[in-house]
This record gives sequence, C-alpha cells and structure tokens, in this order.
Amino acid sequence: MNSKPVTFYECNYCYSTYRTEQQANECCKCKVCGKEKSKWIITGQLGHFCEKCARKEERERINRYYDTAQRITLAEYNELHKNDDETGCLFNGDVYLFYQEDGGNGLIDEDLVFGTRIVRFREQFKDVESIVEDWFEPYTNIEENECSARDMAVGYDELITFLRGWIAKQDAHYYQPDFKTAVIIPPMDNGEEEEEENKL
Ligand SMILES: [Zn+2]
Ligand SMILES: [Zn+2]
Repeated sequence: MNSKPVTFYECNYCYSTYRTEQQANECCKCKVCGKEKSKWIITGQLGHFCEKCARKEERERINRYYDTAQRITLAEYNELHKNDDETGCLFNGDVYLFYQEDGGNGLIDEDLVFGTRIVRFREQFKDVESIVEDWFEPYTNIEENECSARDMAVGYDELITFLRGWIAKQDAHYYQPDFKTAVIIPPMDNGEEEEEENKL
C-alpha cells in the first residue's frame, strides 16, 4: 500500500478547507485590521477587507484621484457642459449631485468634487451592424465558407434602418465619475444659498 492519511483544516466561518492551520485561521479575517468576520461580511465584493477597512480603502483611493485630477472651477465646468442636453451632475466620492436640478442645494458643504461623464444608450449601441453580426454569429460561423449576417439575414437592410432609427430615439443614460476632473465649489452657506441658486 502506497498511501498515507492527510489532514485538512477548515475555516470556522465559511467551511473552506486548507492544508495548513494558519491558512484556515486567516481565511475569514480582514487582511488589514485582522478582525475576524463571517463570510457574509468579507464577501467577494469587499475582497479581503472587512466593511470598515473596505470603506477606508475606497476613501484613500478617492483621495488619490483628487490629488492627481485637473482642478477647474464650477464656472469653468458649467461652461464646458453648457451644450449638454442633460442637467449638470457632479460626484462627491459617494453620491451624484444633480446640482442644477436641486438649485445648488447639493453643493452646500462640498468644496471639491469630481466631474462626471454621461453614458448614453444611443451612443453605446450605435454600431448596429456589429450588433446584428453578433446575433447571427452562431449561424454564420458553422458554414464552411464563413458568411456575414448581411448575407444571411432576411430583410437585413430593413432591419438596419429600423435599428438605427430606434436607437437614435433612445434617451436612456447614466453618469460615471470623471476622476480626471476635480471641480472646485465656491463656498456656499445657507445665507448665500439664494444668491448661488440664481447664479447656477
Ligand atoms: Zn473562511
Ligand atoms: Zn478590517
């Protein structure tokens, strides 16, 4: 007989098994503060951090972005976006500030925030030929001589024309932080609020 028994160690929280006791003990511990946490708190989303350390880590990351971002004033930011058809939006590291919709209230107590970039459905999907090509991929690939969706789709031109028109009409969009642009907010206290509102 050419075998021997082996020992495994199990993490008490998530029941993952390891070859060494140390690995098992470290499994569900925050890799920064060492606090033991259940699997439900040290999730894949937080990596190896407990919630508190993950928040701290995120804060530090945001601060590094502020350090390297180009700083512009709110007036300059508004000037850059004056032709946007959507309302102005900034990001303070936690939440989006729709400062034009709320008359500038969202900017009280903020001094430096990030700009945002708008992601529009109609721009994401404007390459309709590729979309249709993807739909047909499993069907066009199996042919000996590969053909395209254009060759295969019944009513291809009709479909492309329809999709172009339909996508152009979509106004769905969302905002993304633009970590390369930091916007300096002029001081606003409650007394100045009315005045600032008029300026915006
Ligand atoms: Zn574990
Ligand atoms: Zn921690």
